[in-house]
Amino acid sequence: MQYMSTRGDTKTVSFADACLAGLAPDGGLYTPVEYPKLAPASGKESYTDIATRVLSAFAGDSISEADVQTLVAKAYASFAHQSVTPLSEIGPDQWLLELHHGPTLAFKDVAMQIIAQFYDHLLAERGQRLTVLCATSGDTGGAAAAAFAGLESVDVFILHPHERISPIQRRFMTSTGASNVHNFALDGDFDESQAIVKALFADQTFRQDVRLSGVNSINWTRIAAQSVYFATAQAALGSERKLRFVVPTGNFGDALAAYVAARCGLLNGLEIVSAVNANRTMVDLMETGKLSKRAAHATHSPAMDIALPSNAERLLFEVMQRDTDQLRNFYNQFAQSGAAELSDQARGALGCVGVKAVSIDDGETEAEMKRLYQETGTLQCPHTAVGTAAARATRDASADSVDVILSTAHAAKFPETVEAITGHTPALPERSESWLARDEVFERLPSDLNAVREAIRERVS
Ligand SMILES: *Cc1c(COP(=O)(O)O)cnc(C)c1O
Repeated sequence: MQYMSTRGDTKTVSFADACLAGLAPDGGLYTPVEYPKLAPASGKESYTDIATRVLSAFAGDSISEADVQTLVAKAYASFAHQSVTPLSEIGPDQWLLELHHGPTLAFKDVAMQIIAQFYDHLLAERGQRLTVLCATSGDTGGAAAAAFAGLESVDVFILHPHERISPIQRRFMTSTGASNVHNFALDGDFDESQAIVKALFADQTFRQDVRLSGVNSINWTRIAAQSVYFATAQAALGSERKLRFVVPTGNFGDALAAYVAARCGLLNGLEIVSAVNANRTMVDLMETGKLSKRAAHATHSPAMDIALPSNAERLLFEVMQRDTDQLRNFYNQFAQSGAAELSDQARGALGCVGVKAVSIDDGETEAEMKRLYQETGTLQCPHTAVGTAAARATRDASADSVDVILSTAHAAKFPETVEAITGHTPALPERSESWLARDEVFERLPSDLNAVREAIRERVS
C-alpha cells in the first residue's frame, strides 16, 4: 500500500513513512494511491478483529498482520467497554455510537492509542526517536499524553493555553506521571500556541534536530483507525440496513473516515450528515461551492470551533477526480486571496458524494441538551448534542435508513457547560476518578517562540 500527497508531489511513500511524517512535504495530505477493497465486518468479528483487518490493509508491507494484531490489542485494552465503541438506542431507529470509552473520555483516544503503538513499533524497528509536538485546546493533548505516556521512542510536548482549558482536560495531560510527556502552559490563548507549533514545524533546522512529528487529524493513521467504528456499527445493526451517519464535525476527520469506510466496501451505501456548530465553513462549501477564509467563533462545542476543516482537502481531492494540479491551485488561490471556488464538475461531484452539512447554533445546542435530559434522562456533551440536533433537523420521516449519531465525548469532560445549560453536573466515570488525586506536572512559559524552542531542545533525550 503506497500513499500519495493530495498536492501533486510525485513521490509515493509507504504507510510507515506517511504515518511517521503526518503532513506531506509539499503541504498536502497523504492519501492511499488506491483504496483497498475490504469485506464488510461480520457480527462474529470483535472490534479488534475488524481493526486488525482494516489497519493491516492500510499498513500494507510496513507492519505484518500479526504485529498489527498485537498492537491493536494493546491499544484497545485501555478502553472501558468490551465493544470499544458500543451503540446505544436513544429513539426509534436512532442510535448513539459511543466513542468516549477511552482513557480521556473523547473519541480522539480511539485513533491516538493505536497511533502511539504504531510509532513505538516502527521507531523501535528503525532504531529512531521522534518528538511529537501538539498544541491543544483540550481533547487532543490529553489523548496524546495518555497514548504516548511511557513509550521508549517518543518524547511528547503539549502546549496548552494557561488557565483556558477545563481542569479535567488539563489533568488528563498533566498527571500521566510519565517522564516522556512534557506539558507547557503558555501565557496566551490557543491561537498563539497553535502559531508557535506551526512556526516550529516550519523551522527546518529545529525540525530535523529534534525529529519533529505531528499527530493531529491530518495524519492518515487517524482516519484509518476511525474508519473501523463505522464498519462495526454497520455489522452490529445489520449489513443489509441503510445507515445515515451524523457526525459532529470540526476538522472533518471523523466524517472523512466514514467516507473512507464506504470507499473500502465496509458500508452499505454512504449517507453522512456533517454537523457543525456556528463555524459553518462546511455548510457554505456544500451550498455555494466556495471555500472562504473566516475567523473561528467560540461556541459551546470548543473542539469543533474550526474555521478551516483540514480534512475537507481529502474529500475535495476525490471530487476533483484526484487532479492534484486542480487541488493545489484551489488551495493556493485560497491562501492568496482568502477564497477559492470549485469548478462546475467538482461542485457537481460534491453534490452527489453522499455528504450533507448542517449548522446548529449555541441556542439550538442548549435546547437539545435540555430536551435530551428531559426525554432520555441522559446528560450529553455539547458536541454530541450538535449531532443529535442535526439528525432531528434533517430527518426525513419516510426514510428507510437508521440514524447513527456519533457521541464524540463524555459529558463529564465538559462539566461546566453541561451544568450551566441543564442544571445538572455529569458524574465522572469511576475509572477516571483516580486522575483527580494524581499530581499534576506542567511548566509555565511565556507565549514566545524562542522560549518554547529552547525548552524543547533542552528536554529532548
Ligand atoms: C475533535 C472533536 C470533534 C471534531 O472531530 P473532527 O474529526 O475534527 O471533525 C468533535 N467532538 C469532540 C468531542 C472532539 O474532541
